[in-house]
Amino acid sequence: MNRRELLKNSLLAGTLSMIPFSNVLATTKTTAKKIEDDLSGYKHIKLGELDLFVLTDGYFRENSLSSFAPRGNVSQMKAILKDNFRSEEHIDLAFNVLLVKTKDKLILLDTGIGIFADEKSGFLLKSLQKAGFSAKDITDVFISHAHPDHIGGTVDKQHNLIFPNANFFISKAEYDFWNKATLKDFNNSALKEQPEFLNQIIPAIQNIFKTLQPKLKFYDLNQGLYDHFSFQVFPGHTPGLTVMTITSGKEKLIYIADLIHSDVILFPHPDWGFSGDTDLDIAAASRKKFLHQLANTRDRAFASHLPWPGLGFTRKKDTAFEWIPESFMN
Ligand SMILES: [Zn+2]
Repeated sequence: MNRRELLKNSLLAGTLSMIPFSNVLATTKTTAKKIEDDLSGYKHIKLGELDLFVLTDGYFRENSLSSFAPRGNVSQMKAILKDNFRSEEHIDLAFNVLLVKTKDKLILLDTGIGIFADEKSGFLLKSLQKAGFSAKDITDVFISHAHPDHIGGTVDKQHNLIFPNANFFISKAEYDFWNKATLKDFNNSALKEQPEFLNQIIPAIQNIFKTLQPKLKFYDLNQGLYDHFSFQVFPGHTPGLTVMTITSGKEKLIYIADLIHSDVILFPHPDWGFSGDTDLDIAAASRKKFLHQLANTRDRAFASHLPWPGLGFTRKKDTAFEWIPESFMN
């Protein structure tokens, strides 16, 4: 499959507009970005005593409705998009990344697409800078899962660590999965139709793990971390997808990462799934279970790919759910 076909059959959010994975770690070529196309920016919010910054890494445009939701109905999807004043031609996915400042730590929750960026993405470091921090200030990186749009920002193309002073945390299930992954692991995924693509991303992820190895730690799922964080694995999108609960005083925010990839399409139809889901059935079960929980607890959530800044609430609607984005006055 050539690059054009790879682009056309876009699957994992943000990974398809990249130079092929097999070359990406070797090349020093960077995508030239024009100043007028600078998409960087941030939003500061408080959570109890914590300072949180939502950083944008840009966004990803999925041009194929049928590949977005493998079990979805395209004509129904078009009707939903139209009804919600969205383009019927494509689906945009935000790249939202959370930075948490505690008393003595500066923690990044995922690192953006980094080395796999195209002209619409790869703005995380610039957004970090605008928020008043540099890569050296990051003490910890909590990885939700190992897809390129979440770990591509951990290393540069020469295998150097982008955040040289940080420890990296990931779930053991996620680490073990990708280190042993073969095409057979994707039998219940839309990705099984893209063996060439998988043959590129699996070794690319393994290479990134190798670079991170000396600083890599596993989450203790039974115990929180740094007073404010706890972790749960909700498998399906990937086997070790980790949801993170951040608490401070009476306030709580749940980072749901890639449990869900569209507000208007997947909240009402969580079974339609997402092209990048490793196991469509397990992902749909985890998605519905967690959406039920969010609707019952009324907890505030933060999502990687829901419209900027990715903050909002879930409630039940008809037989499924709807996303109510948080309203901001400034
Ligand atoms: Zn993602």
